[in-house]
Amino acid sequence: MSEPGGKARQLAVPAAPARPDPLVIRHLEFLGGLAATGGWRPETSLPEVAFSGRSNVGKSSLLNQLVRRKAFARVSKTPGRTREINFFGVNHAFLLVDLPGYGYARVSKERQGAWGDLIEGYLRDNANLRGVVQLLDARHEPTADDLRMFDLLADIGVPALVVMTKIDKLTARQRGQQLTALALRCGVEEDQVITCSAVTGEGRDDLAASLAALLATPPDEEG
Ligand code: GDP
Repeated sequence: MSEPGGKARQLAVPAAPARPDPLVIRHLEFLGGLAATGGWRPETSLPEVAFSGRSNVGKSSLLNQLVRRKAFARVSKTPGRTREINFFGVNHAFLLVDLPGYGYARVSKERQGAWGDLIEGYLRDNANLRGVVQLLDARHEPTADDLRMFDLLADIGVPALVVMTKIDKLTARQRGQQLTALALRCGVEEDQVITCSAVTGEGRDDLAASLAALLATPPDEEG
């Protein structure tokens, strides 16, 4: 189509309305770390969601992306904090809890045992805990520690959201295969698994929406 001047007229295509962010972060603060069973932890009755996964699974990258801060989870990687359970207050409304990464090869059996006790102690008898986001590397089979974690969550009866991290590293065909295999191994439905990439941003809003839903559900209404 031409305008009288002979120039082609651009057809105006209305921009797709941006989806509202399911989790807008207005306030974020590091509250402190729990270093040993029975030690200090924040005194609060705000709901908590904990993030769990083996070391190097991409937990820090995912947390940074979730809260849209480049170095938010860096505190959990500072010396002295890597073996702690780190608590972050969000919007004065809930707590994000960063569990220490497990399965680090160079850690002794004794230290791994202490890790297990610390995490299990935190997860059990925690009236504030609304759910656990369990991270799995999209490229790998779940480890024995991952499967132990799923058993523990089922035993405690806490809702689990499953995230497949680093999904950008798989081809379209591999994605489908890995999704089916991981869901089967972990005993969850495929549509319970959120595929995420800290590189492309895929999955961030889905995870944010799932967290918002989890936090909005009173504990006694969880199925
Ligand atoms: P953490 O130990 O679980 O906190 O893992 P990090 O977030 O530190 O990530 C471990 C490594 O994986 C780093 O080299 C990251 O750059 C990389 N990584 C994390 N997430 C992704 C992702 O979604 N895609 C890709 N390709 N690499 C990732």
